[in-house]
Amino acid sequence: MSNTTEHVTCLIIGSGPAGYTAAIYAARADLKPVLYTGLTPGGQLTETTEVDNFPGYPKGITGPILMEDLKAQAERFGTQVRFGMVTKADLKSNPKKVWVDETIELTADTVIISTGASAKWLGLENENRLRMNAGGVSACAVCDGFFFKGQDVAIVGAGDTAAEEATYLSKLCKKVYMIVRRGEMRASKAMQHRVKNTANIEILWNSETKDVLGKEAVEGVIVKNVQTNEERELNVTGFFVAIGHKPNTDIFKGQLEMDDLGYLHVQPGSSKTNIEGVFAVGDCADRTYRQAVTAAGTGCMGALDAERYLSTAGIH
Ligand code: NDP
Repeated sequence: MSNTTEHVTCLIIGSGPAGYTAAIYAARADLKPVLYTGLTPGGQLTETTEVDNFPGYPKGITGPILMEDLKAQAERFGTQVRFGMVTKADLKSNPKKVWVDETIELTADTVIISTGASAKWLGLENENRLRMNAGGVSACAVCDGFFFKGQDVAIVGAGDTAAEEATYLSKLCKKVYMIVRRGEMRASKAMQHRVKNTANIEILWNSETKDVLGKEAVEGVIVKNVQTNEERELNVTGFFVAIGHKPNTDIFKGQLEMDDLGYLHVQPGSSKTNIEGVFAVGDCADRTYRQAVTAAGTGCMGALDAERYLSTAGIH
């Protein structure tokens, strides 16, 4: 090991609710955690507006403020929060090695991976603009559906997430248009059945979204039927995209066990991966729930598991 390589006891990769909660617990256990934020400090919640479902905030809180609070809480106990992207890892070596921004090399006794998942987007210019301006484009109906109570909305996708979110929205909104690109849905039969039997969900089969309209906020969506080439404007104020998430785990391929979509495998009831001393928490290991509060819960598990590992191994 070169003299310039920094060694840390507990390295946390990622700065969403999972990473910061792991940091709070690890710092309080005197593991002197170092947390690298990734390219989006604060993670997915910094891209949402109001968060009304995180316990402890009876009046709600904005995503960016919630993340600033979690960061401040982690720093209060001594976590070093650093801006940087972990670009490479050798988790099988002992101690584990990681590289930040392809240049800085660190070694670590334990690594807590909380790299999260990223929602997939259609890639339309106006979709991106209105999403960034909190103008009514969202990838999370459970987070943002409430703001469209009594209004008409559209949702794109035909998997279980889209079906589940369309059903969720149908209970809040006047009308839900579900934009499906093929003539069938990928969602389970039970979920499809529910969608098809909900009176205020209209499924637009074989349909593509051509554009999202609106300057400050969504005012409509242009949809094209790919069989007839007919275009139609949907008069909606909310646009939800549910075409899947991608866990940010590419750099761990070949080292950590993961499922076909890239979600990391953890031992049931723990945050332990297949490599001793490496723990996975939050959305990068959660294909099912993907909520801020569940991510925070598993972040706590990661720090407690890391602490026990270090103690059993006689390192700390
Ligand atoms: P999926 O990958 O299963 O589905 C994505 C959907 O989005 C597909 O219908 C796909 O269409 C569509 N899509 C992809 N790209 C585009 C595009 N550019 N334009 C329009 N449509 C597009 O993702 P999900 O998030 O739905 O589910 C992920 C996993 O989580 C699945 O295994 C699912 O079963 C599971 N899950 C389970 C739940 C439950 O059991 N309660 C709830 C939610 C998720 P196409 O079909 O044409 O490819």
